[in-house]
Amino acid sequence: MPKQKHYFSCINCGAEYHDMEFMYLCPACAAENTSDMPPKGVLKTLYDFSAIKNQYGSKLKDEISPLFMPLLPIEKAESFGPLFMQNTPLMKSEGEDFELYLKDDSRMPTFSFKDRASFLVSAWAKEQGIDTIVAASTGNAGSSLAGVCASHGQKAIICVPATAPKAKLTQILMYGAQIVPVDGTYDDAFDLSVAMTEKFGIFNRNTAYNPFTIEGKKTVAFELFKQMNFSAPNRIFVSSGDGVILSGVYKGFEDLLILGLISKMPHIISVQAEGSNNIIRNLFEDAYNFIPSKTIADSISVDLPRNFYMALDFLTRYKGEGISVSDEEILAAGKELTSKNGVFAEPAATAAYAGFLKQKSSGAIQKGEKVVVLLTGSGLKDINAVQSMIEIPKPVNAEDFLKTFEI
Ligand SMILES: [Zn+2]
Repeated sequence: MPKQKHYFSCINCGAEYHDMEFMYLCPACAAENTSDMPPKGVLKTLYDFSAIKNQYGSKLKDEISPLFMPLLPIEKAESFGPLFMQNTPLMKSEGEDFELYLKDDSRMPTFSFKDRASFLVSAWAKEQGIDTIVAASTGNAGSSLAGVCASHGQKAIICVPATAPKAKLTQILMYGAQIVPVDGTYDDAFDLSVAMTEKFGIFNRNTAYNPFTIEGKKTVAFELFKQMNFSAPNRIFVSSGDGVILSGVYKGFEDLLILGLISKMPHIISVQAEGSNNIIRNLFEDAYNFIPSKTIADSISVDLPRNFYMALDFLTRYKGEGISVSDEEILAAGKELTSKNGVFAEPAATAAYAGFLKQKSSGAIQKGEKVVVLLTGSGLKDINAVQSMIEIPKPVNAEDFLKTFEI
């Protein structure tokens, strides 16, 4: 029997690492990494799928959930702690000739999808007796880790670009985490947090660098599988920055595909901001080209996508697609999403809805398709970004107002 139920496989060189409790990057590939390219050596976490299939047989589909231990590098469900939640709402939107579902992860405990990764990283740390975790973040991953650590009595250290939205910085501090604002970009914050891990050995939650972030994020696929009556949707729109949520969604469905629980990978569309599209601009290209990012959607504003190679691998193997949307389209989509459905999501999340609107108007979505738009963060986390879309009326005199008011 292997000592560990999980093992790691390098996305670049394919090397497998068995009987390792934990690793960051594949050492062989990481040795060649340079600061001007996305990191090579990100690891995929794998399991003995045929043993799982044999063990559960026809009962397997009923067992699938974000707490299905055989597909997680965790020993006990209790390790997820008091803040853990699963099965965020999947709401059917009205008025389309296909089925549109909004998966609302803004209702996670710290109001973003990032909780899925934080739950797993924090639970694993708890099982190992690790009490301090560091992370770099544009804001959501940091506030998520801070919240989850607070619930576990762990210390969180969060490196953020000093320009991160105030609501996210406030959240991090209120959760009692130590914040390190970096005079620079997310990429600079990322490098600082890795240096803290290398120098002081602090456990690191950085997205993709820590392979369990992808394992945590894959749980959304398990929930969708259950919520859609043990099937996969036809089409999923995912906002992408680093490519980790995208890879997580793919990884979850890939696990289900390998286990024979679904017969086909959903068509997944990676939606990026026009000013930060470093994954999809390089899709199907031989030579890669990265541009400095500039977008109002701060959570997906990334110069060097940290899970670039895995995202590209998934999109290529499963014939996924990339769509760029402008900041104007993101804001307009956010307004429509919110006023039509009562769901207030941040611009980084409404980018996915903007991608959906683009495909809808081009006629790409077929009648009867089941379509999911993944909403990854609350609008209350970044209200400044949407100020240009609204005008708060001036105060009124009540008497005058009532005289002239008409329904
Ligand atoms: Zn490698």
